[in-house]
Amino acid sequence: MHYHPKSDLLNNRIILITGAGDGIGREAALTYARFGAQVILLGRTESKLASVQQEIAARNLRPAFIYTLDLLTASQQDCQRVADQIGQWVPHLDGVLHNAGLLTEITPMADIQLQDWMNVMQVNVNVTFMLTQALLPLMLKAASSSLVFTTSSVGREGRSGWGAYAVSKFATEGMMQVLAEEHKHTGLRVNCINPGGTRTSMRASAFPDENKDKLKTPADIMPLYLYLMGDDSRRKTGISFDAQPGRKAGPAE
Ligand code: NDP
Repeated sequence: MHYHPKSDLLNNRIILITGAGDGIGREAALTYARFGAQVILLGRTESKLASVQQEIAARNLRPAFIYTLDLLTASQQDCQRVADQIGQWVPHLDGVLHNAGLLTEITPMADIQLQDWMNVMQVNVNVTFMLTQALLPLMLKAASSSLVFTTSSVGREGRSGWGAYAVSKFATEGMMQVLAEEHKHTGLRVNCINPGGTRTSMRASAFPDENKDKLKTPADIMPLYLYLMGDDSRRKTGISFDAQPGRKAGPAE
């Protein structure tokens, strides 16, 4: 995507990023902070979140908040506690990027372990729903807000072996569409991003033998992440965007 936002695109915006300690979420948090946002970093590993927080502080950007939560075991009450804590830190939320995700073994449906299926659904669908429900009141307090889910090419067209992960991303697309329709007369817009193959540890676990140098880095795909959080996307809702339009799914050669 060719998008060149102004350096103050996200001034005074408050944005929550899940899975902010690593990979795409880490890059999104640093990028949003660089464009003026105050970021709230949610993730599982406190030391990783603290390192992102320190990097933001070292660049003299708006101080970041961190919230440590394992989404694999998080309950509805835990999600409400997240919202309550955020409500004490800030008056509203201008953006939420649901980025945390879980991918388990690539294996045929017939061989998927039930616990793996449940774990993927918990992290990618159930807790995403519970967090969204808890955070909606804070998002609706903002004059205009942006809710962004993370999908995948296998969430649009099923692929052999991608089992629970693919099904969870179809569900993510559905959740986005329903919410977008429900909020089309409010200031809340709801969209999906499909990052496309991106150089992270999740990607490496799925395609250990591909040529990593041919993959885009998280930094390369940030234009779309910025676009959807800033005013230029105010009228866009209910859309599943590609961060790498035209990229063919599958391993990089
Ligand atoms: P990474 O594995 O690099 O990062 C995922 C992040 O989510 C990590 O910070 C991780 O925390 C966090 N996370 C995972 N499980 C939990 C949990 N139980 N509780 C809290 N946080 C958790 O993945 P990517 O950056 O590659 O992926 C980001 C998103 O993009 C995902 O939704 C993925 O499905 C999607 N995606 C990625 C593609 C790619 O090629 N990379 C392609 C298509 C979609 P920790 O660091 O503690 O492990």
